[in-house]
Amino acid sequence: MSLQEAIQEFRSQFRGTVHEPGNISYEEARRVYNAMIDRKPRLIAQCTDVADAMAAVRFARANDLRVSVRGGGHNAAGLGVCDDGLVIDLAPINYVRVDPSSRTVLVGAGCKWRDVDHATHAFGLAVPSGIVSSTGVAGLTLGGGLGHLTRKYGLTIDNLLSVDMVLADGSFVVANAEENPDLFWAIRGGGGNFGIVTSFLFEGQPVHTVCAGPMLWNLEDAPDVMKWYRKFITQAPEEMNGFFAMMTVPPGPPFPEELHLRKMCAIVWCYQGPMEEANNILGPIRSYRPPAFEFFVPMPFPMLQGMFDPILPPGLQWYWKADFFKELSDAAIEKHLEHASLLPTWQSTMHLYPVNGKVNRVSETDTAFSHRDAVWSGVIVGIDPDPANRERIVAWAKGYYEALHPFGAGGAYLNFMMEEGEDRIRATYRANYDRLAAVKAKYDPDNFFRINQNIRPAASRDASTVG
Ligand SMILES: Cc1cc2nc3c(=O)[nH]c(=O)nc-3n(C[C@H](O)[C@H](O)[C@H](O)COP(=O)(O)OP(=O)(O)OC[C@H]3O[C@@H](n4cnc5c(N)ncnc54)[C@H](O)[C@@H]3O)c2cc1C
Repeated sequence: MSLQEAIQEFRSQFRGTVHEPGNISYEEARRVYNAMIDRKPRLIAQCTDVADAMAAVRFARANDLRVSVRGGGHNAAGLGVCDDGLVIDLAPINYVRVDPSSRTVLVGAGCKWRDVDHATHAFGLAVPSGIVSSTGVAGLTLGGGLGHLTRKYGLTIDNLLSVDMVLADGSFVVANAEENPDLFWAIRGGGGNFGIVTSFLFEGQPVHTVCAGPMLWNLEDAPDVMKWYRKFITQAPEEMNGFFAMMTVPPGPPFPEELHLRKMCAIVWCYQGPMEEANNILGPIRSYRPPAFEFFVPMPFPMLQGMFDPILPPGLQWYWKADFFKELSDAAIEKHLEHASLLPTWQSTMHLYPVNGKVNRVSETDTAFSHRDAVWSGVIVGIDPDPANRERIVAWAKGYYEALHPFGAGGAYLNFMMEEGEDRIRATYRANYDRLAAVKAKYDPDNFFRINQNIRPAASRDASTVG
């Protein structure tokens, strides 16, 4: 049977939509969040349910097609889409069901975080996630998941109870603490290496209204603010989260016009508690280095989650480099200042996300996510709408990264990496890598799922290739 005949047969068994080159819908379906990525798959299969995902895996196997798996399409390295192969796109599987009595949240693998935030907020609950609501639940969760609730409730995977999965042979399994616990261990940080997750069952946390928003300081104050922050954020109550940013002030409200497009530093806070308590906790920084501007107010949690969406729409050029950090030395702070003053475009930025509090209390071997002892996850992001600025934003991000990398803890959050090779992946998983490779050999021995931050199956490590 020719591939074209096989595609016809596949279409007849598949309930979702199949896009091929030449279809009007194909161009839209192959597009991902990062406009730097321009891949042309042979086929895109948008699954409506688990049966579709099983059919897609079997079809790819039978026709020897490489496969990428797509959740929200936000991966900056573009790992949700591939050239010439089959994209298994979960986007239509986008239900959220909240069970208020058990405080659990069942999420289809095609959801974005805004779908989850909307559904859970009505019940006074939230699932710890990231900071941009258009990010996919699937990729973010499988890599770990860092955001505004991390210090109090841990990584997203620390709130994951169970998953439904389709494996590389097209079979269906459940993975949780009782069923297939080795697989459940591996998918909590091990990315898309082990199969297609079709649904996630999370524990919801009691979060409704938070006191949140950014405080901004002039760049000259950045060294003093950073020195204060490095101590504060490891000792503050865990209800207080705050990520540090080097940034350019967006040219619009709520920022005053005189600050528009000025390079500054910021801390974006999220406090789970009353404003009076928050103000007491933040009093010392307000009197030590009064912010040039602040927008710190009580708000519904989904509002905070959507706060950065307008400045980060899909379709921008996007390049990032990352590292974990255990300390923020005076010498590192000098480098931060030097490179922040060179921010190449107004959307480009550097963030330091706290990886402390509850995250540190889970052991390094309890889940695949190894860097539990990090204090921050740093990411340097070059962003711009204009492809002509591509080289500029890449060069700036690389230069900043090279200056800070010597201060790193080894390894980086995989969800903040481009395709950077096996050494970086090993540095990230450290002692967990060999155990991950053994789980990979059990569930995906021929590395069928290899378009990801790839963990090679233990037995065939030398034979398989990435990409
Ligand atoms: C604007 C922006 C903000 C971000 N903010 C944060 C943040 O605050 N915190 C944070 O932790 N991360 C953040 N990230 C990083 C984000 O976690 C990763 O980009 C992640 O890969 C996005 O997941 P996705 O489902 O949208 O990606 P996709 O591109 O759809 O998929 C990425 C990879 O995940 C795997 N995958 C996806 N779906 C499945 C599935 N159903 N089953 C198995 N494997 C699957 C595959 O390997 C795939 O290649 C952000 C990214 C962007 C672009």
